[in-house]
Amino acid sequence: MDYPVVDSSRCTLCGDCAKVCQFNALVKTRKDVILFEKLCHGCRACGIVCKHGALTFGKRIIGTIEEGQFGDFICKRGVLNVGEPMAVPVIKELLKNLPKGINLIDCAPGTSCNVVSSLQYADGAILVTEPSSFGLHDLKMAVQLIRNFNLPFGVIINKYKTGNDRIQRYCSEENIKILGIIPYRREAAEVYSSGKMIVELPEYKEIFEKIAEELKEVFHWN
Ligand code: SF4
Ligand code: SF4
Repeated sequence: MDYPVVDSSRCTLCGDCAKVCQFNALVKTRKDVILFEKLCHGCRACGIVCKHGALTFGKRIIGTIEEGQFGDFICKRGVLNVGEPMAVPVIKELLKNLPKGINLIDCAPGTSCNVVSSLQYADGAILVTEPSSFGLHDLKMAVQLIRNFNLPFGVIINKYKTGNDRIQRYCSEENIKILGIIPYRREAAEVYSSGKMIVELPEYKEIFEKIAEELKEVFHWN
């Protein structure tokens, strides 16, 4: 990740770099300019406004990219170093140069910068939610975000219990396609916690196959 380095022999202590930094990562004192590196987003705005050529940029390691393969599937993940608050540069490194074909990006929940960064690489979105008040609240925010990106999307309702239809009502009002409903069952949790995939349960296999069919209607790669 980029971070600014101040050359004190050139710095006039004008303070322009500290003023332009939207993240308060730079502070000008009477004697020097101090960087709080964990607040820095590496945007380089400080380098643009410094008229005295006193700012250059260095790189520091904030995480790693790991890769593995299972059959034809390549799986990559970004691992942020402990104590680092900024995941976006790792996400960008992870998602740049995606291979041709279908890439599934499993991003963070909610509508944080991490989600926004991931959406910049997406052609469509699957919003997975749960039928709780909290789930509905977050879903509404996620829908607003996806609509700003103008991407095709659909909803999957996870942990569904009969009679709790608040997500279906919202989707119907908003004309949002429900791609599938995954029921809340103890067996699913048992299979999952023993390290297996829930598609190994026949009932769930059928549900996921239906979701795959629904996806073809929503996304334009088909
Ligand atoms: S690179 Fe951006 S975030 Fe980092 S110190 Fe400069 S202006 Fe602030
Ligand atoms: S903008 Fe450049 S010259 Fe001004 S305080 Fe920052 S580093 Fe120093």
